[in-house]
Amino acid sequence: MRIDIDTGVCIGAGQCALTAPDVFTQDDDGFSELLPGREDGAGSALVREAARACPVSAITVRED
Ligand code: SF4
Repeated sequence: MRIDIDTGVCIGAGQCALTAPDVFTQDDDGFSELLPGREDGAGSALVREAARACPVSAITVRED
């Protein structure tokens, strides 16, 4: 699994960090970022749900 966050699209709604807090966090400006070492999703079943929850579809999840 590979997670990409389009930071140009993210509006800082925070749904990703609420849905999958073990993978996503928010930076000082409120925008989404991945927690260190979680670029592969770390096996979290909530990553896809977080991508669906994002109101601007800023999160892309790919299977490698
Ligand atoms: S849910 Fe989407 S818009 Fe909100 S912080 Fe996460 S990536 Fe950004």
